Amino acid sequence: MPALAPNSILISEVGPRDGLQSVATVMPTADKKRWITALYAAGLREIEVGSFVPARLLPQMADVADVVAHALTLPGLTVMALVPNLRGAQAAIAAGVHKLTLPVSASQAHSLANVRKTPDQMIEEVRLIAALRRDTAPQVGLEAGISTAFGCTLQGAVAEDEVIRLALECARAGVDEVGLSDTTGYANPAQVRRLFGRLRSALGQQAGAAHMHNTRGLGLANCLAALDAGVRTFDASLGGLGGCPYAPGASGNVVTEDLVFMFEAMGLSTGIDLQALIAARAPLQAGLPGEPLYGMTPDAGLPQGWAQAAP
Ligand code: ZN
Repeated sequence: MPALAPNSILISEVGPRDGLQSVATVMPTADKKRWITALYAAGLREIEVGSFVPARLLPQMADVADVVAHALTLPGLTVMALVPNLRGAQAAIAAGVHKLTLPVSASQAHSLANVRKTPDQMIEEVRLIAALRRDTAPQVGLEAGISTAFGCTLQGAVAEDEVIRLALECARAGVDEVGLSDTTGYANPAQVRRLFGRLRSALGQQAGAAHMHNTRGLGLANCLAALDAGVRTFDASLGGLGGCPYAPGASGNVVTEDLVFMFEAMGLSTGIDLQALIAARAPLQAGLPGEPLYGMTPDAGLPQGWAQAAP
C-alpha cells in the first residue's frame, strides 16, 4: 500500500459488499457494474465489490467473480473482496482480487453464528490464508477486520483486551493490517478513540481501517474520533446501504456522501468529487428500486460556494 499524503484520507466503499449482502433483493449484475463504474468516476479508488461465499448462503453474491472482472478494468482501482475462509480466498485470488479482507469476530457468540468457528479457530483460518497468499499471490493485500469490536447484539459487551489480543494474533498470523468494525452500531466516540489508540500502540503501522455503522446515529462522530486516534482509512457505504430489513429506519454503514462532506469541509482530501458521488446514487437506486437510501448531504444539497480541497 502506498503511504497516504499528509491531509489525505482513503475512503473504502463497501456498499457493493456490506450493503448488498444486507438487502434481501438481489441486484442484477449489470446494475452492480454500472454502480461500481459510477463510484469509480466519482474518485473512489478502493471498493469492496463483493464476498466469496457460497451462493446458497448469499445469493446476492453469486456473481462476484463477474463483478470483480469488471472492476479490474478500472485503472488504479484497488479491488477488494471479503473472504470468510481459505476456499473463499482461493476463489478470490483466482478471480484477480487485489486485496482480501477477513472478518474475525471478537464475540464468541457472533463468531459461531457468522462463520461457525470460535475466534481462535478463525485465527487458524487467517494463518492458512496468509500462507496461501505468501506462497501463491504475494502481490495481493491482506487485511483483517475485527468485527463486533465495540459490542455484540448476541453477547452484549465485548472485552477490549480480547479485541487487542485478536488483532495481535492476526498480525502474527501474517496479515498486513488490522482494522476495527462496529458491526452492530454499538460504538461511541470515547470508546472508539480509546480502542483505536490501543490498536495503534499495539500494532503501529499495521493498525488499519475504521468500519463504522450508523445504527444509532453515531457513525460520523465515531469516524471523527477514529481520525483523532490516527486512523486514515474509513469504510463507508453509498446511501448508507445496508442495515436490517426487519428494523425499518435502521440505517447501515456510515454514509459515504456525509463522510466525504465532513472530511472535505474540514480541509482533508478524499480525492472524491461530492457531486459525482451523489450522482452515483442513481445507478444504485436503478438496481434496487424502492430500497431506502440515507444521507443528510444528498438531501440537503451542497452548501453555497462549496469548493473542495485540491486533491
Ligand atoms: Zn459492516
